[in-house]
Amino acid sequence: MVTIFYQRMFQSKSLFAGGIHPTDGFDKALTGGKNIIKYIPNTVRISLKQGLGPACKPVVHAGDHVMEGQLIGEAGHFLSAHVHASVTGTVTAVDETACEIAVEDCRLPDTDCVYYKEFVEISYSKEELVRLLSEGGLVGMGGAGFPTAVKYATKEKISHLLINGAECEPFLTCDEHLILEQGMAILNGARALKKACGAQKVIICMEDNKVHCKEALDKLLAGHGREVEIRLLPTKYPQGSEKQLIQAVMGVEIPAGKLPAEVGAMVSNIQTAKAAADMIFGGFPSTSRVITITGDVAHPGNYLVPIGTDIGELVALAGDVKSKDNKVILGGPMTGRLLGFCLDAAKMQAEKMAVVSKVSGGLVVLDGNKPEVSNCIKCGRCLQVCPAGIKPVMIEKNYLLGNLIACKALYATECIACGSCSYICPARRELAFHVVSAREAVRAKIREEAAQHA
Ligand code: SF4
Ligand code: SF4
Repeated sequence: MVTIFYQRMFQSKSLFAGGIHPTDGFDKALTGGKNIIKYIPNTVRISLKQGLGPACKPVVHAGDHVMEGQLIGEAGHFLSAHVHASVTGTVTAVDETACEIAVEDCRLPDTDCVYYKEFVEISYSKEELVRLLSEGGLVGMGGAGFPTAVKYATKEKISHLLINGAECEPFLTCDEHLILEQGMAILNGARALKKACGAQKVIICMEDNKVHCKEALDKLLAGHGREVEIRLLPTKYPQGSEKQLIQAVMGVEIPAGKLPAEVGAMVSNIQTAKAAADMIFGGFPSTSRVITITGDVAHPGNYLVPIGTDIGELVALAGDVKSKDNKVILGGPMTGRLLGFCLDAAKMQAEKMAVVSKVSGGLVVLDGNKPEVSNCIKCGRCLQVCPAGIKPVMIEKNYLLGNLIACKALYATECIACGSCSYICPARRELAFHVVSAREAVRAKIREEAAQHA
């Protein structure tokens, strides 16, 4: 499989195998050239599950007055991350899943702080930096949700820290705008994260459709040597996927079942780097983020909001959806979660469909027409575009037959859920959905077998 993988990579003259070019850029242009809008709601509903692990244990009660940044949920599992009040106000409801707060005030990280304007000294040791990342409740804000402190506490020798600004998902531009408006905080965060993991070098990676972002960061870096490298990569989806980014920058393939740290790599999202700066230099835990609200809405834009802001409220702020015949996706159109069809802002708010979490990169409203699914025509395109080098059509076939042994033998566990196979399929088959389902079923079976033999 590996030989075929490299042959395909060579043939396509790209830096990683497979991949697609889903749009010509019209999607990102919807929010281009518009400044980030700061928005503070009247109420926030903060999920106590922000990391990969179980929900945090609430440490506040209804009626308590809480300050912005105060701990409200304590992590009790190594894959969970602490949760903090994203606003100052009164707790109106709390249970094992969420904490609702009536907002009195919300400052959000102060962009007048010195680390937003110039390079600052990093006086903390590696251990102190990791402790701060843990105390601040940081998780991977690119969508992974892996607790940052756990990742950076690695004992592996790290050669490269890659700050992921690829933002290869169509429509989303929140990272791009954060780079343009808060670049110095990102640079300081990247420097701090480099020290936290002991990396030899830190590279901020972006696709070559973001030349303006590279120019903005280069300007901020003038006079600071090569402490942080800015690198442009060919625009291709899924450039921002962890394994593909490492392969594109370092030329290293991560073997199945291995972690990036085992090949000397560490990857963090742009917004995670900014959140690290806020915690390390400003004392602000992870309580806010920038999210893109776009697609078929009246006023697409990027919004800086406290964690727990209602998604429907943001859609209303963006002028509501324009067409009734729509589908609404939380996240990007390739990897996001379908919230539903034929929605509008009022319905989303009434049904409390979703709130902004630390990993919410966007909300996209698209045409709701469901394509007609037909039989496979054996064109082989899904095999060509799959960046994991697996065979989506074969895995789907075996999964639908209930043959998990074959799915495992076909490396279903290597699927990165990028959606490229579904996108390219002329028969409109739901390949990614079925391959991801197969992946989860195989993983569950592996865990079950391991438990039996323990
Ligand atoms: S099988 Fe998985 S990794 Fe391969 S293209 Fe489909 S979704 Fe992406
Ligand atoms: S892309 Fe679709 S039609 Fe082509 S081989 Fe794959 S499943 Fe079949």
